[in-house]
Amino acid sequence: MSVVVNRCARCGRSLGTFRETTRVQHCPTCETWLLVHHHLTLLPDPGGLEWGRLSEWEQAFLTSVRQQFAQRGTLTEKQQEKLESIYERHI
Ligand SMILES: [Zn+2]
Repeated sequence: MSVVVNRCARCGRSLGTFRETTRVQHCPTCETWLLVHHHLTLLPDPGGLEWGRLSEWEQAFLTSVRQQFAQRGTLTEKQQEKLESIYERHI
Protein backbone atom coordinates (compact mmCIF):
# COMPACT_ATOMS: atom_id res chain seq x y z
CA MET A 1 0.00 0.00 0.00
CA SER A 2 1.56 3.28 -0.99
CA VAL A 3 0.97 6.48 0.91
CA VAL A 4 0.91 9.69 -1.09
CA VAL A 5 1.28 13.18 0.30
CA ASN A 6 -1.22 15.33 -1.53
CA ARG A 7 -0.02 18.82 -2.26
CA CYS A 8 -1.84 21.94 -3.32
CA ALA A 9 -1.52 22.20 -7.10
CA ARG A 10 -0.89 25.94 -6.86
CA CYS A 11 1.37 26.60 -3.86
CA GLY A 12 2.61 23.10 -3.03
CA ARG A 13 1.38 23.16 0.58
CA SER A 14 0.85 19.69 2.03
CA LEU A 15 -2.78 18.66 2.29
CA GLY A 16 -2.13 15.53 4.31
CA THR A 17 -1.58 11.93 3.31
CA PHE A 18 -4.04 9.80 1.41
CA ARG A 19 -3.79 6.34 -0.04
CA GLU A 20 -4.36 7.67 -3.50
CA THR A 21 -4.88 10.91 -5.37
CA THR A 22 -7.91 11.10 -7.57
CA ARG A 23 -8.09 14.75 -8.58
CA VAL A 24 -6.29 18.07 -8.57
CA GLN A 25 -6.56 19.62 -5.14
CA HIS A 26 -5.86 23.02 -3.65
CA CYS A 27 -5.42 24.31 -0.11
CA PRO A 28 -8.22 26.61 1.20
CA THR A 29 -6.15 29.74 0.52
CA CYS A 30 -5.66 28.82 -3.13
CA GLU A 31 -9.29 27.67 -3.53
CA THR A 32 -10.32 31.19 -2.52
CA TRP A 33 -7.69 32.79 -4.75
CA LEU A 34 -8.83 30.76 -7.76
CA LEU A 35 -12.49 31.62 -7.15
CA VAL A 36 -11.80 35.37 -6.84
CA HIS A 37 -9.52 35.22 -9.88
CA HIS A 38 -12.27 33.45 -11.83
CA HIS A 39 -14.85 36.11 -10.90
CA LEU A 40 -12.53 39.00 -11.68
CA THR A 41 -11.59 37.49 -15.03
CA LEU A 42 -15.17 36.97 -16.18
CA LEU A 43 -16.60 40.28 -14.99
CA PRO A 44 -16.48 43.18 -17.49
CA ASP A 45 -13.38 45.33 -18.00
CA PRO A 46 -13.39 49.13 -18.24
CA GLY A 47 -13.68 50.07 -21.90
CA GLY A 48 -15.41 46.81 -22.81
CA LEU A 49 -19.00 46.79 -24.10
CA GLU A 50 -20.33 45.14 -20.95
CA TRP A 51 -18.79 47.68 -18.58
CA GLY A 52 -21.76 50.04 -19.01
CA ARG A 53 -24.13 47.41 -17.59
CA LEU A 54 -22.53 47.82 -14.17
CA SER A 55 -23.70 50.56 -11.85
CA GLU A 56 -21.27 53.35 -11.03
CA TRP A 57 -20.84 51.87 -7.57
CA GLU A 58 -20.06 48.44 -9.02
CA GLN A 59 -17.55 49.92 -11.44
CA ALA A 60 -15.73 51.67 -8.61
CA PHE A 61 -15.88 48.55 -6.43
CA LEU A 62 -14.53 46.28 -9.18
CA THR A 63 -11.73 48.70 -10.01
CA SER A 64 -10.61 48.88 -6.40
CA VAL A 65 -10.81 45.13 -5.63
CA ARG A 66 -8.93 44.35 -8.86
CA GLN A 67 -6.18 46.70 -7.75
CA GLN A 68 -6.09 45.22 -4.24
CA PHE A 69 -6.11 41.65 -5.56
CA ALA A 70 -3.27 42.40 -7.97
CA GLN A 71 -1.19 43.93 -5.17
CA ARG A 72 -1.97 41.63 -2.24
CA GLY A 73 -3.64 38.57 -3.76
CA THR A 74 -6.40 38.64 -1.14
CA LEU A 75 -9.80 40.22 -0.55
CA THR A 76 -11.74 40.49 2.70
CA GLU A 77 -14.67 38.17 3.26
CA LYS A 78 -17.10 41.08 2.73
CA GLN A 79 -15.44 42.02 -0.54
CA GLN A 80 -15.63 38.41 -1.70
CA GLU A 81 -19.34 38.24 -0.90
CA LYS A 82 -20.02 41.49 -2.74
CA LEU A 83 -17.96 40.33 -5.72
CA GLU A 84 -19.91 37.10 -5.83
CA SER A 85 -23.25 38.92 -5.81
CA ILE A 86 -22.15 41.22 -8.67
CA TYR A 87 -20.94 38.16 -10.54
CA GLU A 88 -24.26 36.37 -10.07
CA ARG A 89 -26.21 39.42 -11.21
CA HIS A 90 -24.22 40.03 -14.39
CA ILE A 91 -22.73 36.74 -15.57
ZN1 LIG B 1 -2.24 26.38 -2.09
